[in-house]
Amino acid sequence: MDDTEEDPFLAKLSFEQGGSDFVPVVVNRSVLRSMSRRDVLIKRWPKPLQWEYYRSLLPDVSITMCSSCFQMFHSEDYELLVLQHNCCPYCRRPIDEPN
Ligand SMILES: [Zn+2]
Repeated sequence: MDDTEEDPFLAKLSFEQGGSDFVPVVVNRSVLRSMSRRDVLIKRWPKPLQWEYYRSLLPDVSITMCSSCFQMFHSEDYELLVLQHNCCPYCRRPIDEPN
């Protein structure tokens, strides 16, 4: 099965990622709406910065993003480090419950 026909994001990605330089994929509202909320990670920077949107291309790899410093981690690593230190391993934000 050809996934790119099902997934407008992947279709755009394979079309635009020809060279070695990274080119952010820009999608319109309907494509964005078709994407699962779980697949999209948002860095909600405070103003005047613009929010950044990320989509994981590795569905088998669970990613956790710190809600304070917006660093991304493999969820397994993150949970282990949070259990060991009770804080984000990057910004040291205290964490009561891993989310
Ligand atoms: Zn953090």
